[in-house]
Amino acid sequence: MKLDLDSQDSGRSDLAIRGTLNLGLSDGRPLEARVDGILVVQNLESRVLLNGALQAEGRTECGSCLEEFTVRWDVPVEVMILRDVDSDEGEGETLLIMQRKGEVDLHESLRECTVLAYPQAPLCKPDCKGLCPECGIDRNKGTCDCSENEIDPRWEGLP
Ligand SMILES: [Zn+2]
Ligand SMILES: [Zn+2]
Repeated sequence: MKLDLDSQDSGRSDLAIRGTLNLGLSDGRPLEARVDGILVVQNLESRVLLNGALQAEGRTECGSCLEEFTVRWDVPVEVMILRDVDSDEGEGETLLIMQRKGEVDLHESLRECTVLAYPQAPLCKPDCKGLCPECGIDRNKGTCDCSENEIDPRWEGLP
């Protein structure tokens, strides 16, 4: 996950990205993610733009039934390496790296993109039934009688 500015051809080229990122997330979210994809590099001499999308995958808990599963998500990447380090250029959401020459380590920028794109409470499958709030049974694996006796909390406490 490095880009060597000294040997980078000017103009447009592809950069294959494949590796594992330590996401540093907590709360049952993936500790690390494998990322894979191709970024388009545009070398404009004073700056280098990296654009594209990576596919990420990691192990996490389902937001509904708590079962561990492999979550996959798309990671849009937009990074600009400014070689003219005196420039105060910045464009919206684009991540900036200030570096004049040599090898640029893309690890931290790609980690940021991957964390930003991580979905909220991903589910193991779109129709995950979750856990029964009464007895805790995994409704994907079995059934229980709780729902029949369930009292709508809005009616509780009414005369
Ligand atoms: Zn689930
Ligand atoms: Zn139940």
